[in-house]
Amino acid sequence: MIVVGGGFAGASCARALKQLDRDLAVTLVEPETAYLACPFRNAVLAGLRGIEAQTFRYDQFGDIGLIRTRAVAVDAERRRVRLEDGTDIGYVRLVLAPGVDLRFDALPGYDEAAAAIMPHAWKAGAQTLLLRDQLAAMPDGGVVILSAPANPFRCPPGPYERASLIAHYLKTSKPRSKLIILDAKDAFSKQRLFEAAWQELYPGLIEWVPLSSGGRVTEVDPATRTLVTEFGSHKADVANVIPPQRAGRIAQSAGVADQTGWCPIDPVTFESRLQPAIHVVGDAAIGGAMPKSAFSANAQAKACAAAVAALVRERQPAQPKLINTCYSLVAPGYGISIAGVYQPRDGLLAEVEGAGGTSPLEAPLSVRELEAAYAEDWFRTITSEVFG
Ligand SMILES: Cc1cc2nc3c(=O)[nH]c(=O)nc-3n(C[C@H](O)[C@H](O)[C@H](O)COP(=O)(O)OP(=O)(O)OC[C@H]3O[C@@H](n4cnc5c(N)ncnc54)[C@H](O)[C@@H]3O)c2cc1C
Repeated sequence: MIVVGGGFAGASCARALKQLDRDLAVTLVEPETAYLACPFRNAVLAGLRGIEAQTFRYDQFGDIGLIRTRAVAVDAERRRVRLEDGTDIGYVRLVLAPGVDLRFDALPGYDEAAAAIMPHAWKAGAQTLLLRDQLAAMPDGGVVILSAPANPFRCPPGPYERASLIAHYLKTSKPRSKLIILDAKDAFSKQRLFEAAWQELYPGLIEWVPLSSGGRVTEVDPATRTLVTEFGSHKADVANVIPPQRAGRIAQSAGVADQTGWCPIDPVTFESRLQPAIHVVGDAAIGGAMPKSAFSANAQAKACAAAVAALVRERQPAQPKLINTCYSLVAPGYGISIAGVYQPRDGLLAEVEGAGGTSPLEAPLSVRELEAAYAEDWFRTITSEVFG
């Protein structure tokens, strides 16, 4: 078994495969020596947490073979993975878990050079620290603009959690400043909870501009830090541009991504709809209603591992039921959440009706405090399970 990508999805899948069947030879291909986790990354931005609390070394993988390089191509017919050093390795079944690539071809003006001025901070540590430092250097009275992409993208509540924590930073350190969210959507995850909390905690500080009011950014000019929409242009002191995304490059070159840029999968086995014996889990996959989150990635990885372990022993894979919970911090000690349960239906992962839900809209602060504590506990639990 080869697993490509050691994030929440791939590392979870490699571990689960080995736990399910000790006789399986499992190899994890991952170029980094440490994983930088995204959940709680928004707290780093607001100066509430250090980046070291987000860093997990690949030291604890026991008898899972770890190849510290990048996979660059897949020969699906011969069932071989080409590595960056030119060697290739064979597989019986391959799990691809490369996460997302940011689309630097989707928003005119926004390329890798522009990201050094208008950071996305949607991946890895350097971008997070760049945005944090820009916020710290901004004078009081400055305008921060965050642009959020259309669905689907990594972590649907992420831009709004980020807006909340930046607002907390502005309120406490630069109270004359303003935050504008330019959004390519008319609705977002946990919207009523976020908006109620913004009114309570940050009145007048955050302005959300939806798609229907001209929120979609159509072009950017990094030289002047200007974001252009169909309705006009906005000049920022700090611009956080979260661009459209797609499945990581290896998924494109393996032929498992379709014209949307994402990878359609069978909801029982996570096997690609486009290539046999290749499974896709985590953010790179699309399979219905499940959001792209670390929680989902971990749940999908375990279900996929169970299916793969069954398939290699020629057993029928079981029908999975998967859970996702996304916590968001709106302020320190103030958490909200959304949860869902998913099962295969009509070839997709469909939400189980009547299960899940969000935090209550009207609730005392003690409930928000508890949810913030649950969020911390969840992060500690999942990272120790996945990275040891
Ligand atoms: C700001 C922010 C906040 C978030 N907060 C939350 C949260 O509170 N809760 C939550 O559940 N989720 C949260 N998420 C979402 C979560 O981080 C992602 O959904 C999750 O990381 C997806 O896991 P993954 O394994 O699919 O991808 P990734 O975590 O991106 O892992 C992909 C791995 O594959 C490796 N890789 C890529 N290409 C190759 C290749 N060719 N060869 C070998 N290795 C390769 C990469 O190095 C990486 O280690 C947040 C995301 C962001 C951006």
